[in-house]
Amino acid sequence: MTPDVRDRADRPARLDARPADTCPIPESSWDRALRLISQADEVALACHVTPDGDALGSMLAVAFVLRSMGKRVVASFGDRHFAVPRLLRFLPGQEMLVPPSDYPAAPELMIVFDSSTFERLGLLGPNAAVARELVVVDHHPSNAGFGTLSLIDAKAAATAMLAEQLVYRLGGRLDRDIATCLYAGLVTDTGSFRYSSTTPAVHQMAARLVATGLHTDEIARELWDRSPFGYLKVLAAALDRVELEGGLVWTYVTRVDRAAYGLPYAELEGIIDIVRRTDEAEVTVVLKEDDQGDWQVSTRSKGTADVAAVCAALGGGGHHNAAGYTSHDTVEETMAKFRRELGKVS
Ligand code: AMP
Ligand code: MN
Ligand code: MN
Repeated sequence: MTPDVRDRADRPARLDARPADTCPIPESSWDRALRLISQADEVALACHVTPDGDALGSMLAVAFVLRSMGKRVVASFGDRHFAVPRLLRFLPGQEMLVPPSDYPAAPELMIVFDSSTFERLGLLGPNAAVARELVVVDHHPSNAGFGTLSLIDAKAAATAMLAEQLVYRLGGRLDRDIATCLYAGLVTDTGSFRYSSTTPAVHQMAARLVATGLHTDEIARELWDRSPFGYLKVLAAALDRVELEGGLVWTYVTRVDRAAYGLPYAELEGIIDIVRRTDEAEVTVVLKEDDQGDWQVSTRSKGTADVAAVCAALGGGGHHNAAGYTSHDTVEETMAKFRRELGKVS
């Protein structure tokens, strides 16, 4: 037995919270992040607009640890209409959230989560642009590193995996609140451990989180198994209009559809998961009209087509199999442009 192997075998059985060997983030970057945090009195956190479980969960998990270290913490996201999506209201730590209007104009240290560009930070993009230090914690392959320090792993299934590393390295204890936030990120971005991004490291992280006493059944119900009655009616309208064109299935939801039932925009997130089950289609598109009248375009691929490339060409971004962008055109024009770009990559 080599000393190396014996050393490993002798260690007490525990699930290692340190990054996997494949994590491309150098130790020097983590060290620098810890140094920046230790030197700062106030840390300003932000995540992408209309946050999902990964964005908000990662940010709040780190906020908990920073607060326990005695730091002043502000956390926010740059939506004009600042409200936590109903789906995510069960997450603990929301008392640490402030609206963008109360956010420091030029933070000493700002840490941003799950955002691949300044634009994804919405109203807080300008704050990030002038922050003295800007740490970017993300897993989008398109993220070129727009801060002064990158903690980016394009292979990570969720930003929550990087947030867990930060929590661990800051010496934070993985308590149930932090674990709830991180778990929300992990299950959101892996589609409940169904997507190809679900590696052994994902399950190992889930095991660490569940061991804190999480109520995974309650989290699942909050995230996926409840909605207001109006959702069914709006879903019905979306499904009634669905089109299958070769390998593309698509539909749209208007503001008017939602207004009839007072359904907030954020409630539309799950529709694409129903549309994309279509066997005949490789690519799924759902156009969702937001409260400003713009189309938020959600796209999914089953693996062959790179929708991130298509969406990047149309001003957005995302992952190979899940991407999006904003369109100011009509439904017909939006789809015409989408088909044209899709034709170039498939
Ligand atoms: P969604 O369809 O909203 O669930 O978004 C899927 C993925 O696409 C997200 O995880 C983001 O990475 C990306 N994405 C969505 N909208 C945009 C946008 N407007 N700009 C850049 N990336 C986006
Ligand atoms: Mn996200
Ligand atoms: Mn993510």
